[in-house]
Amino acid sequence: MFLKTLSMALAFILLAAACCPAALAEDSSLYVKKVENLPEDFIFGMDASCVPALEKSGVKYYGFDGNETDVYKVLADNGITHIRVRIWNDPYDANGNGYGGGNCDLANAIAIGQRATQYGMKLLVNFHYSDFWADPGKQMVPKAWQGMEIEQKTEAVYQFTKESLEQLKAAGVDVGMVQIGNETNQFMCGEKIWFNIQYLMQAGAKATREVFPEALVALHFANPEKGDSYLTYAKKMDYYQVDYDVFASSYYPYWHGSLDNLTSLLTTIADTYGKKVMVMETSYAYTGADTDFTGNTIGDGSAVVKNYPYTVQGQANNLRAITDAIVNHTPAGIGVVYWEGTWISVGQNSWEENHALWEQYGSGWASSYAAPYDPYDAGKYYGGCAVDNQALFDATGHPLESLKVFRLMGQGNEIPVVADALEDVTLICDLNAELVLPETINAVMTDDSRQQIPVQWNLTDDMRQQMRDGGVAQYTITGQAGGMEARCDVSMVDYNYLTDYSFEEGGTGWVWTDLAHADELYVEDKATDSLTGSKHMHFWSAAQNSVEFTLEQTVTNLPEGKFRFAVSLMGGDAGNHEAYAYVKVDGQTVGTAPMTITSYGNWSEGIIPAFDHPAGAQVVVGVYVKCQGEGNGAWGKIDDAMLNSVK
Ligand code: CA
Repeated sequence: MFLKTLSMALAFILLAAACCPAALAEDSSLYVKKVENLPEDFIFGMDASCVPALEKSGVKYYGFDGNETDVYKVLADNGITHIRVRIWNDPYDANGNGYGGGNCDLANAIAIGQRATQYGMKLLVNFHYSDFWADPGKQMVPKAWQGMEIEQKTEAVYQFTKESLEQLKAAGVDVGMVQIGNETNQFMCGEKIWFNIQYLMQAGAKATREVFPEALVALHFANPEKGDSYLTYAKKMDYYQVDYDVFASSYYPYWHGSLDNLTSLLTTIADTYGKKVMVMETSYAYTGADTDFTGNTIGDGSAVVKNYPYTVQGQANNLRAITDAIVNHTPAGIGVVYWEGTWISVGQNSWEENHALWEQYGSGWASSYAAPYDPYDAGKYYGGCAVDNQALFDATGHPLESLKVFRLMGQGNEIPVVADALEDVTLICDLNAELVLPETINAVMTDDSRQQIPVQWNLTDDMRQQMRDGGVAQYTITGQAGGMEARCDVSMVDYNYLTDYSFEEGGTGWVWTDLAHADELYVEDKATDSLTGSKHMHFWSAAQNSVEFTLEQTVTNLPEGKFRFAVSLMGGDAGNHEAYAYVKVDGQTVGTAPMTITSYGNWSEGIIPAFDHPAGAQVVVGVYVKCQGEGNGAWGKIDDAMLNSVK
């Protein structure tokens, strides 16, 4: 009976595999390329420090089955092995009001640690040794330690670390790693020289070894893109013989350089000093939109390097790429931690409602109560969450498909590739030309490849007519491609077909031929003598009858149709003169327009209102000037040649 059941089950599995090879064990729409050589014990961490404050604010979390579930269980079920939690010494004002950012004190860490332990995950303890956020920009000393000499402060770090870890241990929390300081680039706990900082790091490490001898001790730095600073940090740690196991880095792809640079730096450090290395923080946006009424650090308008589209698949691809880099290009790499993937909006209704919750429960990045401690940052900009669009849960607490990536990387989920995001199209169209929309559009596919896919535009005859009659204007045309909305921004312009029409590039495309040996004939840089811009074509000659020249451009990109040519001239002392604009088609003059030289600032415009350009014919536009001259000699300026289509 048992054998028969087994063989039937096996047959079913084989059949399923044979009939639809794309359908792997996991039913997910997420494309995940397998990460080769992924170790069984690889650390997939999630910083989830704000969860209790969010829950107090009314946030609920759900599993993939749609049922409300302990978010730490959802994380464990989806391959997270370590929960990272920051600890601030005393994130409260004198009246007991929390600074925000989750009010992450020791009690918060214990509560989170117990939930993590319950679901089989380890806790990654992140001591900031500050009462609030510590990062490369600020490393403020805790209130209680202000004014301490380094010896006292070292003892304080030791005692605080030891007592905190002992309480975690007493609460049954499984601590797997302890981080001594957060993003300690040259600063830590108010100290600014390595000679002092190393004492603090030593003290934290010593306390950790005593309480949790099995736990890894990590140091954490940021900004791998800044050349050799990591090598300097590692060298200092070695010089002072700081006792640690893991050299950890933040890696936010928007700012932190290439993965090649990161893995190269980490590998050098690992090889030189015998350390383990890891990515301690990363995240990526699934949308450019804000969901909690506090603006986000990354959004649609952010001026950042954008490796992936801001989509759920983009989040997964970022995580997969970093994991692959740490597993396969960083021999000593042990893990990747996502930062605050559970930090979501506390409400959908209004800034006022959310603000009240942020203030009361500390569920925003900072409350107004943080102002006395951190007056220049939190004190000015306190508010909600600036990373809610980088969470791995949506604004209502439901997990995004990207949360599955941790579990899927080991086996891969290489389902058929589809379009994930479309590139907007930008078109410039001449008023009198036929608007031609592209038949394909650039798409980023779920495997991060780029393809051109067919697009259908919603351009009706009425809209086309409106654009034809509407003059110079901007339009947005929508369409459909790959199941998504496509967008094409069209600028209808009075297009000038001439190159360097205003001589600002020094006369590119123009040919001037001096027929009478003028003293001066060149492009001059003098804004006051220009019609527009700062440059124009200048001529001057002292002797009589020594000004005669042509200035021409052969037009290479002109479509078939009807066109207008105009150009402007001013000057003086010309005496008897002949000046005109002209157009030649296949060598034959088809139009001329006279211009007169009078006095400074009186521009004369020669206009040939319409000429035909048959298909394939060569068009030359130009200016002819001949002056007898008088007094100081003829002089003049030519500027702003316009070749536009007409109806
Ligand atoms: Ca926000």
